[in-house]
Amino acid sequence: MTVMDMTSARSSLGAATPSRTPYAVMPVRNGRGLVALQRFARDAVILELRGRIVSASTVWSMWDHEPRRAANCIRFGPESYLDPGSRPGAFANHSCEPATALFREGRRLLVVALRAIRPGDELTHDYSTFLGADDVWTMRCNCGERACRGRIGRFDRLPAATLARYRRLGLIPDFIEATATA
Ligand SMILES: [Zn+2]
Repeated sequence: MTVMDMTSARSSLGAATPSRTPYAVMPVRNGRGLVALQRFARDAVILELRGRIVSASTVWSMWDHEPRRAANCIRFGPESYLDPGSRPGAFANHSCEPATALFREGRRLLVVALRAIRPGDELTHDYSTFLGADDVWTMRCNCGERACRGRIGRFDRLPAATLARYRRLGLIPDFIEATATA
């Protein structure tokens, strides 16, 4: 391969690879978070959270040696979680007044805008929408919203008005609802 060939190969590769995503991992109020780099209309799909699908027992054993990683795992089904590792999902922070919501669509976990989003807005969601009645994990919240609940945990302990609103918006997945009646 000549130098000429290599140059053209490299530039065509550059053209095929988008140089930036519509969001970035950046410093936010609490450590690092996902921040929008462009506008999104309400209901827009912003990104897909990717990761490894692991069993509940795998997450349990993770708590012993990798507690941060375990805390980043997102409920994905009755007995499974999505482990984002160091992918963007690890930086999707909680807020009690979230800008986005998670939707599981088949095997995909999508981050969808709950309102119009401007560049610089943090892409938060409410962790409780994906915490079942059998999820014992809780977190002290420092989101700074006036409506902050202080402690975040299982969905069925949400304030009644918040839970009713989330249900109306379809934010509580069936597999999460099912944990309360099991
Ligand atoms: Zn809060």
